[in-house]
This record gives sequence, structure tokens and C-alpha cells, in this order.
Amino acid sequence: MSQRVIDFHCDVLYKMLYTGEVDLAQHESRDITLPKLIEGNVGLQVLALFVEPSLVTGPPRFSQLVRMIDVYHEHMLNHPEIRALKWREELADAVNQQDRINTILSLEGVDALEGDLVYLRTLFHLGVRFIGLTWNHSNWAVDGTLEPRQAGFTETGKQLIKECERLGMTLDVSHLNEAAFWELLELSDRPLIASHSNAKAIFDHPRNLSDEQIKAIIARDGRIGITYVPYFVADKEEVTIDDLVKHIDHIVNLGGNKHVMLGSDFDGIDKKIQGLEHAGQHPALLEVLEKRYGQAFVQDIAHGNAYRFLSQNLPSRAE
Ligand SMILES: [Zn+2]
Repeated sequence: MSQRVIDFHCDVLYKMLYTGEVDLAQHESRDITLPKLIEGNVGLQVLALFVEPSLVTGPPRFSQLVRMIDVYHEHMLNHPEIRALKWREELADAVNQQDRINTILSLEGVDALEGDLVYLRTLFHLGVRFIGLTWNHSNWAVDGTLEPRQAGFTETGKQLIKECERLGMTLDVSHLNEAAFWELLELSDRPLIASHSNAKAIFDHPRNLSDEQIKAIIARDGRIGITYVPYFVADKEEVTIDDLVKHIDHIVNLGGNKHVMLGSDFDGIDKKIQGLEHAGQHPALLEVLEKRYGQAFVQDIAHGNAYRFLSQNLPSRAE
């Protein structure tokens, strides 16, 4: 049996909402389905809420987040195998109960919060525990990786950081521009995650992390989710698992063997790494890593590193 997997990023809720194909048990057009999660031995899947920033028609953006959370409740949590995980106290079962798949909500880009901390708190109460500050563009809080201006945090953006700290929501720096990343380290002393980013030294892409960023995340005891997005891995027609392993090697060489985890981006990508094409195929990556690093590291990258982070940083129900 392959190691239990914790995957820190996917866009399945986005896909379910906007395609209307909401049957978790079926839909072969999706990377994440119930049979594929079981096949991949996924014990915890983080589910991103993402509203296309260019969407200017249709219902207001916050209500689109609510619709995505409605899909989560009506079409995921209705399956007895799927459980919502919100509190530190619930974590112990996450890797132990083989017949359960735990899920945690994250937000990818704060655009839809419209600068309103009541919206932020409402998402917290609905179970959102990770906050990606930007997608690729600018928003009311800060600029994303592809925004030419590369600006830092607005005053309201700084208030958002403080409120996330107070509530116990972890900030996610994937998609954040590098200047703002360094500003964030000044504004907050909490551990950060990069839920789905690779190493810029291996492949120079704006979505990847520089060595200095990787070292800073490690120094904070944060986590980096290795992502299966082929265009962040290598500039090739067919990207392979071996190409992805180079990014893992690099982060490990920077001292990140206890800080690297998985952040697939399944259902957020149209091209795939060969043999790593849906949630049922995580074990293919783990097999390659086991030969290279041995079982203890495979356990760490599959779930151990993410699990330890969650056990220290998920909010406690008692607090
Ligand atoms: Zn993303």
C-alpha cells in the first residue's frame, strides 16, 4: 500500500461549479473524483476556492465563493467517505482512518473579499484555513506575480494579514510577487506556506520560488507544496516525473527535507506531467522518490511534513 497523501492544492470545486459536472463519484473529465482519491490513497485534500478575476458579469464575486462552498457541501460532503476538517483536534484521524478522505478549504486570491474583513471572517467560520493573497494579477490587498507594477501591501491588505493571524488562518505565498513576499516576512512572523510552487533555480518561471525565498520559508518552519504543473517544471513538450524530482532535489539540498510537501494543482491544469495525470497517480511520484531517498523521506513528503505543519498551525477549537 502506498503512503497516505496530503495534497495542499487543487481546483476541483472551481471545475465542478463552472462545468456543472458535480458528480464526485464519476466524471472522468476531472483529475479528482472519489475513485481517483481512493486509488491515490489521499487522506487529506485541500480544496481551493477560486473566482476568475476577469469575471465581471454574473453574480458578485463573494456570492460565487458561496456557490463553490455550496457545491462542496451538496456534492462532496454528501459522500460518507468525505469529511470536512476545520480544527487541530480533528487532525489525528486524518492519516490514520484509511476509509476517510479529509478536506480543508483554502482561498486562492482575496479579490472576492472586496476588502471586507467580515467576508474574511465568514469564510473562516465556513472552514477556510489557508489564504492565498493573490492570483496572478493585482487586487485590493497586493499585487500578483504577473502584475508588472509588483506593488506591496495596501493598508487594508495589512489589516487582512493581522486578522488572518488573529483567527489562525495561514497565509499562502504562491502567486505573490517576490517584493511583496519580502514585505510579508516583515509584516508577519507566522510560518507561511507556498501551496503550489516549484524552484526557480531549476526552471525560471515567475510562479516558482527563488533560493532566498525557499530558505526564508524553511527558516520560518513553513512548507512548500511541489506542484505538478508541467509549465512550472521544464520547457519541454513531454515533462516527466524525473523532471519534477529535480525541483524536489533542489529544495532538499537547500535544507527543506522536512518542509517539502505536495500541491498538485489537479483540475487547475490542462497539460499534465507524464504518469502524474490525476489524483490516482500520486503513488507514481512516491515510487520514484522511494528509490532515490528511501521510505522515511517518502513518508515525510507524502504526508508527514504537511501533517506536522497542520498540527502546529491549524486553529484549535478550544482557543
Ligand atoms: Zn494557482
